Amino acid sequence: MTEFKDLAYLIDMDGTIYRGSVPIPHAREFIRYLQQNRRKFLLVTNCPGNSTNALVEKVRNMGIHIGCNDIISSGDATAEFLCTSPYKRIYLIGSDALKDKLVKKGINVVTEDADCVVVGYDLSFNYKKMKEAAQFILNGAGFVCTNYDLTIPDGDRVVPHTGSIAASIEAATGVKPVYMGKPEYYLLEAVIKRLNCSRDKCCTVGDRLDTDIYFGIRQNIKSFLVLTGVTTREMLRHSKIQPTRAFENLLDILSYYSLFSIYIRCCIPAPCFSFCLETKTNLLNHYCLPIDFE
Ligand SMILES: [Mg+2]
Repeated sequence: MTEFKDLAYLIDMDGTIYRGSVPIPHAREFIRYLQQNRRKFLLVTNCPGNSTNALVEKVRNMGIHIGCNDIISSGDATAEFLCTSPYKRIYLIGSDALKDKLVKKGINVVTEDADCVVVGYDLSFNYKKMKEAAQFILNGAGFVCTNYDLTIPDGDRVVPHTGSIAASIEAATGVKPVYMGKPEYYLLEAVIKRLNCSRDKCCTVGDRLDTDIYFGIRQNIKSFLVLTGVTTREMLRHSKIQPTRAFENLLDILSYYSLFSIYIRCCIPAPCFSFCLETKTNLLNHYCLPIDFE
């Protein structure tokens, strides 16, 4: 079993740290523990639309004090990808925040003669942008999309997201985009570069089976599900997508590892082993869902 201190946590935001504008209980304590004990972590969001400063400010208002380097988005992964790609002239469909992110990396954002179309979350997306993007792609330009998400919850509604914008251009051109965000490799690559850690230490933590946990399965890294967002116990029970472990909330991850270390310390005398094993199982079942595929 990999030690808690050795893992690098890739922590989802909406449904894991907060729900909309409401902080999720224990998220602040979890992040504070990671910071105080110098554990590696990043808050990871698939949404490329917000500026990093705005996200830092948002979580600071919830009592979670982090810096810009503690957050990474599919927009950051896109910028990293473009920097090492052969593309020189980018036609961008996306927010001003995403444009700023690309420009700060020295990426040339243009409206004519583009050799790559980049699609992000764009609240002013329209037919003109779709037509121009389709023309560039049909003339041979590359096609990159920040994230696959087709929809996003908005209060009690579900509204179109970045993937739906890219899907309209894909329908018009017959060309599939290269996706950057979860569950694709490019985001993981950007995380590994930022944290300077190895892939086998990465652990995705989040509330969605189809993105956060599938990201872990697809990229062959550990995955912890928390039941503070969209996934219920019932959904988990019936899903083919299963996490490495499932927890009620972020605090239970700390409980699990602290109990496990107590168990290790207690289990040195061989005669005590079966007792300790039973004790461990009881303790862990009290705190964690009985799911473990390690
Ligand atoms: Mg989430």
